[in-house]
Amino acid sequence: MSMDWMARAVPQTAGLYPYVPGKPVETLLREKGLSRAVKLASNENPYGPSPKAVIAMQNAAAGVNRYPDGDANLLKEALAAFHHVNRDQLLLGNGSNEVLDILIRTFAGAGDEVVFSSRGFIVYALAAQAAGATSVSIPEADGLTHDLDAMAAAVTEKTKVVCVANPNNPTGTLHGNSALQAFLDKLPRNVVVIIDEAYYEFVADEQGDSVHELSHPGLVISRTFSKAYGLAGCRVGYAIADAQIVALANRYREPFNLNLLAQVAAVAALDDREWVMARVADNNSQRERLESALKTLGLLGGRCFGNFVLLQHSQCAEILRRLEDRGIIPRPLAPYGMADYLRISVGSAEENSEFLQGLNLILAELQE
Ligand code: PMP
Repeated sequence: MSMDWMARAVPQTAGLYPYVPGKPVETLLREKGLSRAVKLASNENPYGPSPKAVIAMQNAAAGVNRYPDGDANLLKEALAAFHHVNRDQLLLGNGSNEVLDILIRTFAGAGDEVVFSSRGFIVYALAAQAAGATSVSIPEADGLTHDLDAMAAAVTEKTKVVCVANPNNPTGTLHGNSALQAFLDKLPRNVVVIIDEAYYEFVADEQGDSVHELSHPGLVISRTFSKAYGLAGCRVGYAIADAQIVALANRYREPFNLNLLAQVAAVAALDDREWVMARVADNNSQRERLESALKTLGLLGGRCFGNFVLLQHSQCAEILRRLEDRGIIPRPLAPYGMADYLRISVGSAEENSEFLQGLNLILAELQE
């Protein structure tokens, strides 16, 4: 008789499931027998990383027989100077995903509560579940925007961590610093509050300097090199927080969690401001283009900040299938209870044209 391993796994495993990423290009090519595809499913940077980051990785590649610097000193120095913070306030992760996971595991366990928005980034729920903590999921007042008042009201003595995605993925909503500060002021001082700013660079002008404008003892600001910096495949994220919060979280961090190539790439990418600002401008103008095209079609699912847009239609499953038939990969939002929405990452000008042409043809087909 085969063993029932679920009975042996830690209890929270039963309520856990693996994160479902955007469909990889290779998978779609295999499924559909296509030779090329456009992936607009994972909010990646379509332009690639800074050429300086690529050169830095090439120069470092032959040295990967050595372990990387486990403290990522050069990257910490660069980030500390960039943000005007102390290096001991920086927690580095294999993607900001790991940063979020480590922080939740450090502060929340069985019997503790983690508060987040129902349609907030799904990793908060997964990390809370993996930690054995209780998820407190607060519905959005309008279906899209974090209800900050309701989230603050849900905080109890058991609450250890509160997570706010700003801008949120997948709903694309943004709260300004004054709304966030009013929210922070309502929270107990001993709660860890993660403001997940994975898309910050795209909204820096609207948002201002959250690192220095927001204040709360438990404030953690999380950022990533995966989006505007174009280094999603390298996996580099970081958080800025109170030094003791960082020191505690570091106890859960795996040794050498930032690989050698990721470290040199991030240092070079951070240094190439001109490149990242130009890509942010490209993204934001292409996002406006996609939003106005969707608006004209009557399909705009809401105003999105970041590098993605929302398409709303009652036949999203069918539109998804037909887009994939054409080699275009959007992200279905059924896992967020948003079956009428597709999330479309902002691609390059050519990719967006291909998407819009495909969408127009599909809409015409559906009307036949
Ligand atoms: N936070 C948000 C809101 C995200 O959308 C993502 C990526 N989709 C992440 C965090 C994690 O990104 P990464 O691990 O690549 O830094």
